[in-house]
Amino acid sequence: MTTPAPAFPIATILGYPRIGRRRELKRAVESFWAGSITAAELEQAAAELRAATRERLASLGLGRTDSAIPETFSFYDQVLDAAVAVGAVPERFAALVDEQGELDLAGYFTIARGVGDDAPLEMTKWFDSNYHYLVPEIGPETAFSLHAERILAEFAEAKAAGFVTRPVIVGPVTFLLLAKAADGAPSDFQPIDRLADLVPVYAALLERLAEAGAEWVQLDEPALVSESIDVPRDRVLESVAAAYDALGALERRPAIFVAAPYGSLDDALPALAATPVEAIGLDLVRGALPEVLDPATAESLAAKTLVAGVVDGHNIWRGDLAAAFDRVEAVQHLSPSVAVSTSTSLLHVPHDVDDEDVLDARLVTWLAFADQKVGQVAVLGCGLTEGRASIEGELAAASAALADRDGAPGVRVPAVRERLAGLTARDFDRVSYDERVAAQAALGLPELPTTTIGSFPQTGEIRRARARLVGGSLTSEEYTALMREEIERVVRLQEDLGLDVLVHGEPERNDMVQYFAELLDGFAVTKHGWVQSYGSRCTRPSILWGDVSRPAPMTVEWSSYAQSLTEQPMKGMLTGPVTILAWSFVRDDQPLGDTARQVALALRDEISDLEGAGIRVIQVDEPALRELLPLKLADQPAYLDWSVGSFRLATGGAVPETQVHTHLCYSEFGVVIDAIKNLDADVTSIEAARSRMEVVDDLETSGFDHGIGPGVYDIHSPRVPSVDEVQALLERAAGAIPAARLWVNPDCGLKTRGYDETVESLRHIVEATRAVRAGL
Ligand code: GLN
Ligand code: ZN
Repeated sequence: MTTPAPAFPIATILGYPRIGRRRELKRAVESFWAGSITAAELEQAAAELRAATRERLASLGLGRTDSAIPETFSFYDQVLDAAVAVGAVPERFAALVDEQGELDLAGYFTIARGVGDDAPLEMTKWFDSNYHYLVPEIGPETAFSLHAERILAEFAEAKAAGFVTRPVIVGPVTFLLLAKAADGAPSDFQPIDRLADLVPVYAALLERLAEAGAEWVQLDEPALVSESIDVPRDRVLESVAAAYDALGALERRPAIFVAAPYGSLDDALPALAATPVEAIGLDLVRGALPEVLDPATAESLAAKTLVAGVVDGHNIWRGDLAAAFDRVEAVQHLSPSVAVSTSTSLLHVPHDVDDEDVLDARLVTWLAFADQKVGQVAVLGCGLTEGRASIEGELAAASAALADRDGAPGVRVPAVRERLAGLTARDFDRVSYDERVAAQAALGLPELPTTTIGSFPQTGEIRRARARLVGGSLTSEEYTALMREEIERVVRLQEDLGLDVLVHGEPERNDMVQYFAELLDGFAVTKHGWVQSYGSRCTRPSILWGDVSRPAPMTVEWSSYAQSLTEQPMKGMLTGPVTILAWSFVRDDQPLGDTARQVALALRDEISDLEGAGIRVIQVDEPALRELLPLKLADQPAYLDWSVGSFRLATGGAVPETQVHTHLCYSEFGVVIDAIKNLDADVTSIEAARSRMEVVDDLETSGFDHGIGPGVYDIHSPRVPSVDEVQALLERAAGAIPAARLWVNPDCGLKTRGYDETVESLRHIVEATRAVRAGL
């Protein structure tokens, strides 16, 4: 870049929720999938949402024309968007791309969701968040080419409305580090090998953006903060240098802002500092400023804009604004040019606290959702330009709210704390696995027992009943009667299908965490607090604000009713402590481990009550165990210690005859395999269908020796697997895992599926199991 860089906006955010304040995008996208609106209507809805977002952000204090407003809209996922923008469409979807190389909206969604025998891109968690991205598939032959139309059109759309916004795209290094090798690639191939071929496409994009009038572009490089990446660190750092030296050397380009959310850049900071990029975003909530800097890095940084990510983009607490401003001031020692930002995209938090009319008024004063966080960023930006005195009032108000929270009733409950303090090592252990296996023989299960993960489709009828209960037009007795009818239907269906261990189907659960949050003390639930989980799917995390305890049994009536309907074992179904924490917004005023143990004790009491009611199989779901895994290796042992410990505390009181199951929603065990073994569950079900059973190889070598159910049906897609396909997956699993320990189940719960595909898929699973059993 030859001309001096334009000034970076003093206050900005890394990204904003894109699903809409009332989930408008979700509705529009799902209507398009259902065929009830056209592509043009969907485009229209999306354009309206983007326009409303820009106006909102400007009204909250971000600049209209100084590139402060990031363009972070996506129809489904930002990593998929990057893949499409660089032409990295997998071979099996090549036919979706027309002669001009363009992919229409229907084609875009097909890559995300699959069609016929063509599986969608794999999906996995985005860093340590509950957002899931689609994993690009890159091979030695992937032909990169630029398809920047959408990015350019959004920038132009903003410009036409009087804005100069900041286009945002996943950076080239992170894009390749998050990609997986395409099928058929040589075993020593890694997507990062293609960096030199990919960078020119980013270069072309930057040139096009400059032509369109973009002054700044944001390239997101969160992979640089993560140590859980399969590429040697040296290679990562070389890639940073290669990519950003090349992009920086372009004659015609916007100024480059590299954002690195979710932790410290550590040794990537000197690497990035040595390149010509104009601005670097530092996560100063999860991460910290380097304690020492080599002179060359210090000099380079002093010539760049440092974007201080001091407002937590990852949680909903109003937080300590004065401390945040202290951190901004500390960054001023490194560079004269400092801006204020969120630590991460606000994608992880709901839109607006002011939309919440049911939350306790006192609790509300302790909170900040996306819009409030934008306001905080603007306040801190004002402090930067006008001096600290100008924002003293706002800083003091935030501190007062924090002090109020600290002393509020329910935040610390003596009885809960005493019980926790009295725990001993014995509370975390069951008798040996072999003794349990012997005791559980009484369940009388066949080889390769079949089961499901818990939920059955949440039909419109179920949702309407719940809405009527909440709205008051259905009494709780009427609601219970309807749910019991549903449970009976689900039990009969499973008996007809010939499944071995049955479930009640979870119709009464609005959500696997919120259901418990509503029944436990110490939690609050929001009305509109939705956040995107993947694609059009959203979750509404509860707020864990105080000490947790269980005023009454939570699931016993439903489970014992379901068991009363059948001779087959009925699985009791609980959500584990780590998942309850991971999928809630959790208090930040004590160690997570303490909070997890409080939740565990409540679950322990529930398990005891389920046993008392005659339930012999109990599943404690921990799909989020891996998701909370710290990105820095040094932080992982302590995390695994408290997370595994809380699961063991929850289940440690179960008698040997009770078969404890757990369920995890992923298959890349890698670093967590020992932790999964340490959970000491009798049976663990995991996701495996989408990655075609690759996981059984890891299992084989890891020495895992308890029951395991690798999923044979990808429930994230409406596709029905054929009997042959399931059989092939099972045979592959049976080749690695002894039949005595192998379970047969789908990848995950069925709540998001429709009945037609569910019944057909389960029938295929039972049929395939019978065929495999016959061959044993
Ligand atoms: N038991 C839950 C269900 O089936 C598990 C869901 C999950 O793992 N995300 O819905
Ligand atoms: Zn799952």
